[in-house]
Amino acid sequence: MNNNNTPENTSEKKPKNFIYEIIDEDMKTGKFEKRVHTRFPPEPNGYLHIGHAASICLNYGIARDYNGKFNLRFDDTNPEKEEIEYVESIIQDVKWLGGDFEDRIFYASDYFEQMYNWAVELIKKGKAYVDDLNADEIRELRGTLTEPGKESPFRNRTVDQNLDLFERMRKGEYKNGEKVLRAKIDMASPNLNLRDPIMYRIVHAEHHRQGSKWCIYPTYDWAHGLEDSIERITHSICTLEFENHRPLYDWFLNELGVYHPQQIEFARINLNYTVMSKRKLLKLVQEKYVDGWDDPRMPTVSALRRRGYTPEAIRNFTDNSGIAKRDKVSDYALLEFSIREDLNKRAQRAMAVLHPLKIVITNFPDGEVEELDAVNNPEDPDMGTRKIPFSREIFVEQTDFMENPPKGYHRLIPGGEVRLRYAYIIKCEEVIKNEKGEVVELHCTFDPETKSGTGISKKKVKGTIHWVSAKHAVEAEVRLYDRLFMVEQPDADKEKDFMELLNPNSLEIIPNALIEPLLKDSKSGDRFQFERHGYFSVDTKYTTSEKLVFNRTVTLKDSWSKK
Ligand code: ATP
Ligand code: MG
Repeated sequence: MNNNNTPENTSEKKPKNFIYEIIDEDMKTGKFEKRVHTRFPPEPNGYLHIGHAASICLNYGIARDYNGKFNLRFDDTNPEKEEIEYVESIIQDVKWLGGDFEDRIFYASDYFEQMYNWAVELIKKGKAYVDDLNADEIRELRGTLTEPGKESPFRNRTVDQNLDLFERMRKGEYKNGEKVLRAKIDMASPNLNLRDPIMYRIVHAEHHRQGSKWCIYPTYDWAHGLEDSIERITHSICTLEFENHRPLYDWFLNELGVYHPQQIEFARINLNYTVMSKRKLLKLVQEKYVDGWDDPRMPTVSALRRRGYTPEAIRNFTDNSGIAKRDKVSDYALLEFSIREDLNKRAQRAMAVLHPLKIVITNFPDGEVEELDAVNNPEDPDMGTRKIPFSREIFVEQTDFMENPPKGYHRLIPGGEVRLRYAYIIKCEEVIKNEKGEVVELHCTFDPETKSGTGISKKKVKGTIHWVSAKHAVEAEVRLYDRLFMVEQPDADKEKDFMELLNPNSLEIIPNALIEPLLKDSKSGDRFQFERHGYFSVDTKYTTSEKLVFNRTVTLKDSWSKK
């Protein structure tokens, strides 16, 4: 019953994209002594989402394909938003996705001393200065795309003054925002990023790893290239918004004369019907619109895992989404397609009735139980068969019976016949109603000649429905999910609050579904196909020894497109 193993897919083909072309060329020219060393550099300020997963698969995939190395590096340069909980979840997610960093977990904050020394070097070269302007003043003097910026009145401090002030910044003599260290580049540069960018800010805050050792923190632009250089990364792959920062990345490394990786940009992966910004995801968590970062409706890696996704399906999705140079939005249906395809191959089939309607089979002897054979997975004969108990009282789905059916309805109707999956053809003889006129029970007869797989009777019916034996079925909670947002791009309209676009019906809880008895001993994370309902996995958060909780991973078909 343990179908939760995720055997490595060894026949993965090498995905070709423009980054591979660049690396192929570098291998030819021997640019990095024919080495390939990539990294995934998350900031530990939230849980990883499907876009991060794409970046992990890309970076790790490149290292694997070129027999290179892959680092996990925390870009922990902002103490105010970062937490150890995020560090831990990120490590778990990267490993789960198959990003093998071996023993190479690094923390940018461990390089702070080296970065500080390099900053001192730039000051000594006359390439950096301490500025007393505040953030607003700096912004005002920065100029625009059409107008050059103006120099700060503090720009021409002497090297000695700058060295002294920078040291005192580090010692904690100034308050937040009182001073910054800036690179001295060119206030008239057409690239705004080169207009004396900030290298250090004063932040008096406790750092999750460094404690109160530091009160000056490096900016992304200053720190990132140094981190890559220290780790001797060859290809520093980042998202498109950093394209205009590349000249700055190069400027810092050139001025310091240190080892110089190649920055390469690619387009972010986006997904429709959800948001990807960590700030917005955090808001959903904090305001309790979802039940944590791993709520199965979230686009996070931990949510997808909890929902029953496999690493293989996520890897296939990110491969199929493609690595491009222009931003685009991937269809949620594509993500669902990859998990459906994967689970079709590996998930044990089972029967579950979500909204039960009782049937008494009047000609089946009371107290008798017949064990019937059911196929575990028609896609994989090696998964074998199982026994399912059949008895006089069973439950079927309420929607599989209609008193006044529309044309083309092939399930059970008064006087009509239907096949019970793996069992017999039954005929509806009598409809029992309560005082409100609602159907509460059906009395049927079964035809013993029609047992599945025996071929004794040639009788054929159009419909086949699933069922469970009343006496043997196990109660379980089943959770069905829909899109988290009602519109394709919830954050497209900046004027509108994305929270107003949440889908109020994204979670449906069925407290008392009935499942096949064999599933009683399922373990957290086990995956099944409930015939006709979709793929489900045992919830890791709410399942207890008393109660099984199933999450629907995905429906059997793309039901969304039919709505
Ligand atoms: P922020 O920096 O606003 O907190 P972020 O999503 O950029 O958010 P990081 O932790 O900096 O978060 O991301 C780590 C890595 O993942 C970066 O290299 C980043 O480029 C990459 N990444 C982030 N989002 C996506 C995405 N949607 N598609 C592909 N790569 C992404
Ligand atoms: Mg970022």
